[in-house]
Amino acid sequence: MNPLRSRSLAQRYGMSVASVALTTLVLIQLPSLHQANIALLYLLVVLISATTIGLGPALLASLLAFLGFNFFFVPPLHTFTVADSQDVVRLLTFLAVAIIASSLAGRARDQADTAQRSATELATLYGLSQTISAEVATDRILHVVAQTTAHLLDVPVCVVLLYDDGRLTERARSGDPPPAPSRQVDTFLRIGPRVLGVLRVTQRALDEPLTKAEHERLEMIASQVVLALERARLTEEASQARTLAEAERMKGGLLGSVSHDLRTPLAVIKGAVTDLLDDSVAWDSSARRDLLNAINDEADHLNRLVGNLLEMSRIEAGAQPPAQSLQDIGELVANVVNRMSPRLAAHPVTIDIPADLPAVQINYTQIDQVLTNLLENVIKYTPADTPVMIAAGVERDTMRIEVRDQGPGIPAGLSTRIFEKFMRVAGPERHADGMGLGLAICKGIIDMHQGRIWAEHQPTGGARFIFTLPLHAPVHGSAPRSAARQLREDRR
Ligand code: ADP
Repeated sequence: MNPLRSRSLAQRYGMSVASVALTTLVLIQLPSLHQANIALLYLLVVLISATTIGLGPALLASLLAFLGFNFFFVPPLHTFTVADSQDVVRLLTFLAVAIIASSLAGRARDQADTAQRSATELATLYGLSQTISAEVATDRILHVVAQTTAHLLDVPVCVVLLYDDGRLTERARSGDPPPAPSRQVDTFLRIGPRVLGVLRVTQRALDEPLTKAEHERLEMIASQVVLALERARLTEEASQARTLAEAERMKGGLLGSVSHDLRTPLAVIKGAVTDLLDDSVAWDSSARRDLLNAINDEADHLNRLVGNLLEMSRIEAGAQPPAQSLQDIGELVANVVNRMSPRLAAHPVTIDIPADLPAVQINYTQIDQVLTNLLENVIKYTPADTPVMIAAGVERDTMRIEVRDQGPGIPAGLSTRIFEKFMRVAGPERHADGMGLGLAICKGIIDMHQGRIWAEHQPTGGARFIFTLPLHAPVHGSAPRSAARQLREDRR
């Protein structure tokens, strides 16, 4: 906008008076100038005032130019009387031309200014609504609102206050209170009958109240703020409801598991121990061995269940990821298969891992657990004598590890949900014991490694579990085998 127009009204009128006075002084110094030229030069000043200072000051300039012209340049000089009737016509024509020209130029200028101001305001309001709808943090929204309102209305201070426990509390501010006495204008942030807070601006000056258009703009901003506050409240409520539902599901799952999954092995152990302690029965050595084996198996099972529960709560608590080091996935797979071989006896295992696979940065124990959980599921959910294949390879900058089986596969639509906590798939062939935690733990661990894990149903039948691990530098070169071997020794 024209910088002269941003001056106060009094300053602008002062400028128009000064410009006519200055022109008169200059013209007095040029006595040889013809009257028609003097009139033209006055007109020029009037037009310049109209286009630069505004309509009102230009009209004043027209009047002053008329008086100046009459007083200094139309005989008899230095009086406002006019001797020649021709001069009267000239003077009146000059006044009419000055007023018409200045009003035309001034109005055109005012309209251009108004259009430019509206465009700028619209852009600012649009920017505000964009920011408000993109932002979710209430305080950030209110901060932007305070800044934009102060800028848009050109007021020294804008404060946003919200009701908090019945008390109006300042939440965002732009500008500091002026030292001189000031007047504040409040616009209520209202939704229906409820008042959420107040949008408070300080007037530019005590005697310069906000215009009707400015009040309308304040109302417009207030309605946007209310929408944003409502959206933030609904988002908060929805997330609380989700958290509550999740906690309820977790509690239900935990209680269900504790009451069923943990009690089943305990019942078997208790029954076997009671039988063994029964002196009235003479157990032969093979029956005694069977009972002891059952106790051993169920104790292992119990150990795995409790281990899973502990691991899950560790992941849930956001525990620090344990230290990672470069490891050889081929060795890790061989170790896990080796350790589980008695339980995997009913499933021929094929391992397809290239010898030159690069080392990968992982926490050995955790990735061991992921593979163990996937193979546990093969044991639990696939029929005896069906094969299992473990493959690994490099795909761009990730290591991809896959466990493929020939079991019932994953029912359509559940390939993502089976990674949720306590999610178990119902079905006649799926009565195997478990708490629905194995895959959730795998996901938690792989997430910690910045990898991805997912399941697919193979077209030929069976499930395929794939997880990826990022290959950090050095990408080439295998892990020191001796270190991995040492770890294996340690684990034993
Ligand atoms: P759990 O085994 O304790 O039930 P998981 O999280 O390991 O929990 O598995 C979730 C569900 O995914 C299981 O209940 C099972 O129905 C299904 N599932 C997991 N692995 C397989 C698999 N290899 N084949 C078929 N279904 C599987």
